[in-house]
Amino acid sequence: MPREEGRDVAAAPPVPLQERLYRTEAIVLSRIDYGEADRILTVFTPMRGKIRVIAKGARRPLSKLGPHLEYFSRSRLMLARGRDLDTVTGAETVDAHLGLRADLDAFGHASHMAEVLNRLTQDRQENQALYDLLASSLHLLADGLDAFAVTRHYELGLLTLLGYKPELYRCVSCRTELAAAPNAFSSRLGGVLCPLCRAEDAGSRLLAVNTQKFLRTLDRHGLAPAARLPLDPGLRAELEGVLGDYLRGLIERDLSSLKVWRTLREAENAGDERNLHR
Ligand SMILES: [Zn+2]
Repeated sequence: MPREEGRDVAAAPPVPLQERLYRTEAIVLSRIDYGEADRILTVFTPMRGKIRVIAKGARRPLSKLGPHLEYFSRSRLMLARGRDLDTVTGAETVDAHLGLRADLDAFGHASHMAEVLNRLTQDRQENQALYDLLASSLHLLADGLDAFAVTRHYELGLLTLLGYKPELYRCVSCRTELAAAPNAFSSRLGGVLCPLCRAEDAGSRLLAVNTQKFLRTLDRHGLAPAARLPLDPGLRAELEGVLGDYLRGLIERDLSSLKVWRTLREAENAGDERNLHR
């Protein structure tokens, strides 16, 4: 979106700190060390979506910020808008999700949740419902709930909130209502294929009746009823494989569209440089 006003701000005074400050809740998705003691973090926020921020001195042992910016912790941040990155000026933990740090399996599932969200969302794309889903899913993982069920619930919720909800009730090709029989899942077509249409995607994967039941229960009734369904290890592997394939396919597709989007944005910013800090 071109912003016309402010193109001739060469003589404008610098924005006072007070006006550059804002508060937000945030969950740390990823972070990298920067310089001698700083960290650059990718955080997800309720109103501003995914943003990258810098926490100066966060790696120093006595840093006031560091302890509130651990992986997957939910914190209230005070930030100052910057030219490229906003700077964390204050932080306070809301939920440290300590249980994740004591349980390697839960931590691995949390990493997967953060990674998928990071890869499938664009910067500053607001999605409060997705923030709430991430926060509640991390909380349940940290509380020791079945990591498998919590993660599948999160994946299906994220797909739905981002507009990629897989078709689970009608054949994605011929639109016939699906029977309670083994059908197949097509990542390419984004849903279940009936046995007659299965040949349309050679890469489709067979889905057992109970696997489909789990997905539909998750979709219609939520996490708790789905988690009560008996699922043997084979079906768990099938579900993980099907959703994992679908997510990977979307991420690859997204990466190419992201490149186009970045190029467009860079072109826009080049002509609108002084507005980089909004
Ligand atoms: Zn069909």
